[in-house]
Amino acid sequence: VPDERLLHELREIVGAEHVLTEADVRAPFERDWTGRFGGPCTCAVRPSAAREVAAGVRAGAGAHVPIVAQGGNTGLVGGGVPGPSGRPPVVLSATRLDGLGEVDADARQVTVGAGVVLADLQEHAGAAGLAVAVDFAARGSATVGGMIATNAGGIHVMAHGSMRAQVVGLEAVLADGTTISRLSGLTKDNTGYDLSQLLVGSEGTLAVVTAARLRLVEAAVHATAALIGFDDVTDAVAAVRTLRGDVTGIHAAELLFDGGLRLVCEQFGLAPPLPRPAAAYLLVEAAGRTDVTDALAAAIEHLGVAPERTAVAVDAAGRHRLWQYRELLTSAISATAVPHKFDVTVPVSRLAAFVPAVESAVARVAGGVQVVVFGHVADGNLHVNVSGPPPDDEAVDDVVLGEVARFGGSISAEHGIGRAKARWLHLSRSPAEIAAMQAIKRALDPGGVLNPGVLLADLTTS
Ligand SMILES: Cc1cc2nc3c(=O)[nH]c(=O)nc-3n(C[C@H](O)[C@H](O)[C@H](O)COP(=O)(O)OP(=O)(O)OC[C@H]3O[C@@H](n4cnc5c(N)ncnc54)[C@H](O)[C@@H]3O)c2cc1C
Repeated sequence: VPDERLLHELREIVGAEHVLTEADVRAPFERDWTGRFGGPCTCAVRPSAAREVAAGVRAGAGAHVPIVAQGGNTGLVGGGVPGPSGRPPVVLSATRLDGLGEVDADARQVTVGAGVVLADLQEHAGAAGLAVAVDFAARGSATVGGMIATNAGGIHVMAHGSMRAQVVGLEAVLADGTTISRLSGLTKDNTGYDLSQLLVGSEGTLAVVTAARLRLVEAAVHATAALIGFDDVTDAVAAVRTLRGDVTGIHAAELLFDGGLRLVCEQFGLAPPLPRPAAAYLLVEAAGRTDVTDALAAAIEHLGVAPERTAVAVDAAGRHRLWQYRELLTSAISATAVPHKFDVTVPVSRLAAFVPAVESAVARVAGGVQVVVFGHVADGNLHVNVSGPPPDDEAVDDVVLGEVARFGGSISAEHGIGRAKARWLHLSRSPAEIAAMQAIKRALDPGGVLNPGVLLADLTTS
């Protein structure tokens, strides 16, 4: 039964047209990108200013209705959508918090609203001759707030770090409706607890981010990409080491396998990139202010790779063609089934051994399934996608995440814990760490208003 008083209050705060209650209008806010997670919400609200967020959070808290912050809803762990049970929450969509501040070229910083979409921020920074350090395939929908809340990674972490490294300060609304703000852009500011960094990776459980002061980086003038075929992962990992030593400006190194590449070709009607298939592929890109093509070509020659096993692209269209094999993978996997997605890290030195180990672990509990692996190789970050088991069958989750722990890895490299992995948090964090995280959650959100069930599954709040 909808809480009419709460709905009335929310309409007063954001305007009736921004309180969405009809089932078909609510639907896109209630199910996640993968289709695996979701549940009903009371309504979706679309505030356009921090003070509306603050009033909305206060209203939700007063009515004991949970608040789920949502940006572009491209998250892959069910953190930005309601859970299947419990009191239907208010989904607080941040997409109208879309202000783009003027780029400060001296400081190389910009202040933007949490709802700004990554592609728009990239364009804005580009117009000032700068670039956003974090980039990934969901750039057309993912928002700054979501990227901060998940500490998003992507293809350039090897060069610039993840979202955490780009955050100079934040503005955010806490569970009691208080607003905290550090948007002055001071890069040196040792005045106690860094509350902005505490919120990075907090997945909407501690505060709703409303704006951010972000670092920007030098924009590249030239970029060259190369797709290289290898007989195995060991050779591909060794190649990354050599290429990083030989070429300045390597800012991406992505690992693909033949099965995934063929899936993309089938789903999107693309021709294979090389005359003959290889077991593993490396997609590397080098960028800088000077042309690095010759240096990259020489380094690839130094690897001893046969010319017919390499495709090089210098212009934007050619690079786009090569990147499609990597960037369409997530969509290709989801086109035919609802996959179980595992975004994990293992030590780079154990990456080659991990791939067959995880494939055999899956085969032990689920027959006839499709396993597609790809990842950001320099970070030891692999995306393991298993299609076949029903969405609520967690046997595969148990074995894959168990295997990650056995290899000394992390159960989440860049997508976060969300609802998908909350049950397995203990595989990557000690009891003492989980207790400290629970203490922080209780201190900032004693009523358990913000994103209950996300990140910390079994939290009892006062
Ligand atoms: C094709 C594809 C490729 C992807 N590639 C990558 C990749 O390479 N690297 C990577 O890291 N991720 C990747 N992702 C995952 C996803 O895009 C990121 O996690 C992204 O940061 C989510 O942003 P969003 O705005 O869509 O957040 P949402 O999905 O809306 O929310 C994600 C989490 O953030 C919280 N949240 C959202 N907005 C706020 C806010 N304003 N305040 C507080 N909490 C908030 C939500 O509650 C939820 O817990 C990919 C996704 C897709 C679909």
